[in-house]
Amino acid sequence: MDYRYLGNSGLQVSEITYGNWLTHGSQVENDTATQCVRAALDLGITSFDTADVYANGAAETVLGEALKGERRESLEIFTKVYFPVGPKGRNDTGLSRKHILEGIDGSLRRLQTDHVDLYQAHRYDRFTPLEETMQAFADVVRAGKAFYIGVSEWTADQIRNARALAADLGVPLVSSQPQYSMLWRVIEDEVVPTCEELGLGQIVWSPMAQGVLSGKYKPGEDAPAGSRATDSKGGADMIARWMTDDVLTRVQDLVPIAGDLGLSMPALAIAWVLQNPNVTAALVGASRPEQLAESVTASGVTIPDDAMARIDEALGDVVTRDPSLTARSTPTKR
Ligand code: NDP
Repeated sequence: MDYRYLGNSGLQVSEITYGNWLTHGSQVENDTATQCVRAALDLGITSFDTADVYANGAAETVLGEALKGERRESLEIFTKVYFPVGPKGRNDTGLSRKHILEGIDGSLRRLQTDHVDLYQAHRYDRFTPLEETMQAFADVVRAGKAFYIGVSEWTADQIRNARALAADLGVPLVSSQPQYSMLWRVIEDEVVPTCEELGLGQIVWSPMAQGVLSGKYKPGEDAPAGSRATDSKGGADMIARWMTDDVLTRVQDLVPIAGDLGLSMPALAIAWVLQNPNVTAALVGASRPEQLAESVTASGVTIPDDAMARIDEALGDVVTRDPSLTARSTPTKR
């Protein structure tokens, strides 16, 4: 496993980070979740990403249990705040001072730790003054409850404004967490150049397009039993956007490219996002320990330019690049 600095901070994270959206506390049983976390640690993964909203708090609880007894200094734990956990009261959403200060305490309780290494704004809040949000994050940092601050699915302008306030407040705003994969490249034109300029690194989610880029979903065939596309607890809905014959056919065209490089398809997908120098970590999911063992083979891989060009040619127009799509992630109502 290789490790990278998170943006221009001094924090090193594993370039493959394990995330537990849709899996822990939901699709997979708790003992399998624990096995995945143990496997991750054995494979050199030291960074773990979760969010208060995942499985309504249960994902943080499962991760906290699985990491219990580990040396805290050897781990980097990331979580997020924005969406409601439990009853959806008026103040249970967003980035108000109240929700951030209450949210961090709930996360720390479930994770069984007194601090997280990275506390991320899960979305931008257009209903709360950015000054209020950044001041609340500053107070979380000053209380020692989070060491670094990040954002997720924010536009380049939103990041620039937050970075200016963070600099005034002395808040280490160091990361952006957007979706990024061979199929979804909307950050390349605006978010990445802005973050490069401002010293933020990308921790990118769904680098395997939720499993689609593993090549296991074949056009015109039923999805494999137990896969996310068959998960009635939410996974099937989330992956649906990629489950078209057009996308699945193009993905099969990547198989010979992976073969020529001596990589598995999951490793090709993860290595691809890690070629972008502004990417600090690929945030992978796994429903079984063996999947993580395959994912980590992407660490340290260099994909030659001619293979990168072949990937673009194979995927053609199923790649989404429109930078304006990031703004659509900003919730329009509370
Ligand atoms: P991936 O694109 O890595 O997809 C992971 C899924 O792909 C696994 O759960 C598994 O699903 C399948 N898979 C993994 N490895 C293999 C393999 N070797 N062979 C075949 N299938 C495989 O990432 P996720 O979509 O899970 O997202 C990763 C993390 O990103 C999340 O846990 C979360 O931390 C973060 N995230 C952040 C968001 C945000 O808004 N900030 C939004 C979404 C995710 P299965 O076995 O069930 O088919």
